[in-house]
Amino acid sequence: EKAFVRVTLESNLRKAIENEDFMLYYQPKFNALTNTIIGMEVLLRWEHEKMGFISPDDFIPIAEETGLIIHLGKWILHQGMQHITAWKRQGVNVGILSINISVMQLQEYHFVETLIQMLQETGCHADWLELEVTEGQVMKNPEQTIQTLEKISNLGINIAIDDFGTGYSSLSYLKRLPIDILKIDRSFIKDIPYDEEDIAISKGIIALAKSLNIEVIAEGVETEEQKIFLLDNDCHYIQGYLYSRPLPLVEIEKLIKELRNSVSLTHTYNI
Ligand code: C2E
Ligand code: CA
Ligand code: CA
Repeated sequence: EKAFVRVTLESNLRKAIENEDFMLYYQPKFNALTNTIIGMEVLLRWEHEKMGFISPDDFIPIAEETGLIIHLGKWILHQGMQHITAWKRQGVNVGILSINISVMQLQEYHFVETLIQMLQETGCHADWLELEVTEGQVMKNPEQTIQTLEKISNLGINIAIDDFGTGYSSLSYLKRLPIDILKIDRSFIKDIPYDEEDIAISKGIIALAKSLNIEVIAEGVETEEQKIFLLDNDCHYIQGYLYSRPLPLVEIEKLIKELRNSVSLTHTYNI
């Protein structure tokens, strides 16, 4: 049954890529101290005409195994760059745009050259972008990944390590990676402030980031209690349903406008 579902998904995925049946959703990241948006994460959505929305957790692994992620990943990067460039040109400051990247894309021979070409084509500035790559994927082939990430970082693009704490990073690699920000994995945030171990792990990651002089953000923040814990422990950057779910383009633009309009009333939003 599983094999059947997989084969069905794979053939549908091929068709969807041909037809560009995907949409980018955006989830804002906030500075919880100032209530300002510091950036947006692009999250891919695939709505199948019969099956409805299919979770990226189900189809991204298939796209990776089949190599389809290379083509799909380029489309995501190009769309994302076009959107952020349009926002910046309209004077809408949405902060940095984060795009999830599979390590397979990084391993592609001409990946950095493709990135440069896309930046030129879309008019997107390197420092408007951040690439998120998971800790687990980096550690699969750390030496080569470090080299490619170095090149990308030298272009001025930020590097974020996603799902941090779930993989097996060696501290010596962490020191060598050109990392701008660590994302504390949602699984450690979920049971805060009730689970002592998750509290200890989250505090440890925040301390590690501080001592390595890199930023830290918590993902999957859903409750006020979690936010208070994070603020008390010096993690000011927050992403999660507490602030906003991932939203389609039109709705995220509406949210940005609402926040901007509230500037004159509260002086807390600065976008
Ligand atoms: P991720 O990069 O760790 O993305 C965060 C996931 O958590 C997203 O799920 C998001 O919708 C969800 N999320 C955000 N805030 C909350 C919260 O407060 N509570 C809960 N319960 N969930 C929250 P999504 O969109 O289903 O994506 C799942 C995964 O699929 C992503 O995990 C990422 O690994 C992958 N993915 C999504 N879009 C892309 C893409 O464009 N390229 C690649 N390579 N992978 C992608
Ligand atoms: Ca991510
Ligand atoms: Ca994550």
